[in-house]
Amino acid sequence: TERAVDPARGEEDLGEGSLRPQTLADFTGQKASRENLAIFIEAARARDEALDHVLLHGPPGLGKTTLAQIVSRELGVGFRATSGPVIQRAGDLAAILTNLQPRDVLFIDEIHRLQPAIEEILYPAMEDFQLDLIIGEGPAARSVRIDLAPFTLVAATTRAGLLATPLRDRFGIPLRLVFYTPEELQLIVSRGARKLGFALTREGAAEIARRSRGTPRIAGRLLRRVRDFASVGAASGVEAGESVGAEVADAALTRLEVDSLGLDGMDRRYLRRIAEHHHGGPVGVETLAAALAEARDTLEDVVEPYLIQEGLVLRTSRGRVLGERGWRHLGLTPPASAGQ
Ligand code: ADP
Repeated sequence: TERAVDPARGEEDLGEGSLRPQTLADFTGQKASRENLAIFIEAARARDEALDHVLLHGPPGLGKTTLAQIVSRELGVGFRATSGPVIQRAGDLAAILTNLQPRDVLFIDEIHRLQPAIEEILYPAMEDFQLDLIIGEGPAARSVRIDLAPFTLVAATTRAGLLATPLRDRFGIPLRLVFYTPEELQLIVSRGARKLGFALTREGAAEIARRSRGTPRIAGRLLRRVRDFASVGAASGVEAGESVGAEVADAALTRLEVDSLGLDGMDRRYLRRIAEHHHGGPVGVETLAAALAEARDTLEDVVEPYLIQEGLVLRTSRGRVLGERGWRHLGLTPPASAGQ
């Protein structure tokens, strides 16, 4: 079964584009990134030049794709999207690059999953708008240089640390996205409800926001789940035409096993594992991944960032340690030395 609070994009999020903000002004939160982008976009427009390359990094579901689209719209240029794992051969990337119009935005999601050989092609393309290709094989092989239109690469990654330094250094505008505050998410949920034509009270929106792990994608998904629940009057007790409040939202989210902090079964198993099998840690992430039958990357990119930000778990040089808040969330008493 799919996790309701998995921040990664899944099947059920295919329709999420309808809730996407279209302009920078419409984009809630990420104040620092937004202000930076606004300045650089204005300057690029004034000079009639391609915007410098942008690197967006941060956990999944925080708005990297959305911002990339907004950048192209604000620049008034074309938008082309692909992703690291999709680009298999040099020719794939060459085809995309040679088809770009001047000042277009090329969005590469999950750029940390680009193959090294393809990364090499990207360097001169980013730096000098030139493509160096080897044509043919063996002794007949020759290299050709193709001029590209000046373009803007907007790349997204869940962890900037996974990028090779020479690649990271080629982005003039690196932006780190952060988890949203409950207030920002409440605004996003309320707007989303309005777009869906779903009558939701402020308290209802606040309840969903509080349990969305600081992540707009999860907020949107929980909003749709609450709406589904509310539409079944027999289960929810919601009469036709009635606004949905905190109580119904809570009932729907509890049924999804999303708890008061927005944690689900997976998160609680992770926390309980550290508490019960490792006396609160430290325990290595590999050990946890094996015990929970999850990929290490999934734990690091998807599960842990929010738990760490909330102080439920601490990342130390010797491994993961359950924080005092983690113990209390499980209803357990921390040993005297917990979280030290
Ligand atoms: P990422 O690329 O970082 O995984 P997306 O840009 O695909 O995230 O955003 C995921 C979902 O969250 C989309 O439905 C998008 O509309 C919504 N979203 C992201 N950021 C915002 C925001 N600031 N305001 C409103 N909705 C947002």
